Amino acid sequence: MSKNNKLSVVMYHYVREIKGSLHPGIKGLEFEKFKTQLDYLQSEYQIIQAEDVISSCLNGSPIPENSCLLTFDDGYKDHIKFVLPELKSRKIQGTFFPPAKAILDRELLSVSAIHFILERCTNYKLLLEELFDLCISRDIKKELLSEWKITYGSTGKWDSEPEPALIKRLLQFVLPERIRTDIISILFEKYIGQKQRDFADDLYLTTHDLKIMLADGMYIGSHGYEHFWLDRCSADEQKEEIINSLKFLTQIGASTKDWMMCYPHGAYNSDTVKLLDEYNCGIAFKDSGGETILDIDRRYDLTRYDTNDFPQ
Ligand SMILES: [Zn+2]
Repeated sequence: MSKNNKLSVVMYHYVREIKGSLHPGIKGLEFEKFKTQLDYLQSEYQIIQAEDVISSCLNGSPIPENSCLLTFDDGYKDHIKFVLPELKSRKIQGTFFPPAKAILDRELLSVSAIHFILERCTNYKLLLEELFDLCISRDIKKELLSEWKITYGSTGKWDSEPEPALIKRLLQFVLPERIRTDIISILFEKYIGQKQRDFADDLYLTTHDLKIMLADGMYIGSHGYEHFWLDRCSADEQKEEIINSLKFLTQIGASTKDWMMCYPHGAYNSDTVKLLDEYNCGIAFKDSGGETILDIDRRYDLTRYDTNDFPQ
């Protein structure tokens, strides 16, 4: 009999009661739909534990046919408020990837700030014009903006319209960091009417929350420190990201033996892989690619499904 090494890893971000909430437009999974999806996954798959996935990948120990791992990115409060009680009542484990800085410093990640600005905005074309005006008043040339519009304006996996795709890319990595941070904070205060720090405090888990989740048998892995696109960082910057995220895991009492990495934005390069090996990382996940094969040679290149790939 051949030994199974195929695994379906499902990726979640926001899981909450969305309809009728303060942020009804947030792109996340409605809690009711999460429960329906768990019913489906539990009937079609065997939900296995992070520790079994690590040892299967590194030592070749078998996992059941139709195995599934549940993963939750970005350290949202949703994960203790909605996800944890549901997983506990079903006696299944979740794997959580919180970005350390958001948890420790209570600072809003730019990726989260952008989600909520777009959530609140009803006219993406106007928002893009506003963003361009803010860029021009910061000495970004009109010609450069037109170039960016062409280079970064294509629709992506997550956005079917060009404007939100372009807004996200400009604010995530195209604009110089200082300008980006400054513009995000202006747009955030305008659209959300709240300081980013106060908002972050409600949005992210605390170290105390994470300790509770660990005590309840959940698994916690690294999602970097600042949630940087690692492929856009120097090797030294990446090293710092990894060291600091490991310090964080130690601080909350999570295991750092054959630890798990989840690349922020799914991005990494050959320096990342060298560093993961040097720091004894067990396995590492991207943010797409569907079904994964647990094989030691692919251990830093494991793929995942999105929750939207399964019935909800
Ligand atoms: Zn992330």
